[in-house]
Amino acid sequence: MARLNKHLTKPHLAALKEKLHAEAERIRSNFTVKKAEYESATLAGAKDEVDAANDNILLAADMRFSNREALYYKKVLKSLAKVDSEQYGMCDDCGGEISFTRLLARPTSEMCIICKEESEREESQNYHDRRSKSLGREMTVSAPL
Ligand SMILES: [Zn+2]
Repeated sequence: MARLNKHLTKPHLAALKEKLHAEAERIRSNFTVKKAEYESATLAGAKDEVDAANDNILLAADMRFSNREALYYKKVLKSLAKVDSEQYGMCDDCGGEISFTRLLARPTSEMCIICKEESEREESQNYHDRRSKSLGREMTVSAPL
């Protein structure tokens, strides 16, 4: 079925992988900063519960910080999981090659530029329909803990 990413050489893939790792690291360190701020702001008096609550704190902090960043982080992790396979760099939509230049600019790309532009055109045409759908998704993601 799907074609393989023969257009990407090993050095290409190594560069993209490094970029994805750097992105993941950047987001993680942002989370850590927010987590520390959150802890000192709200848990100054509840030391015993800090450890048990750590996961929730991290989650709550990153939700406050940015849903968009959290979603992007998931995409980065997904791409990292995929980058060693021969499916990475292939368009989810048409199965065509995503150019190295495009991947370098946006290593989480899952669509080639042609399909991406097409989906953006459709998106603006169905703006209201899509908007209500994506709002629904955002609400699920940011539901209170
Ligand atoms: Zn495509």
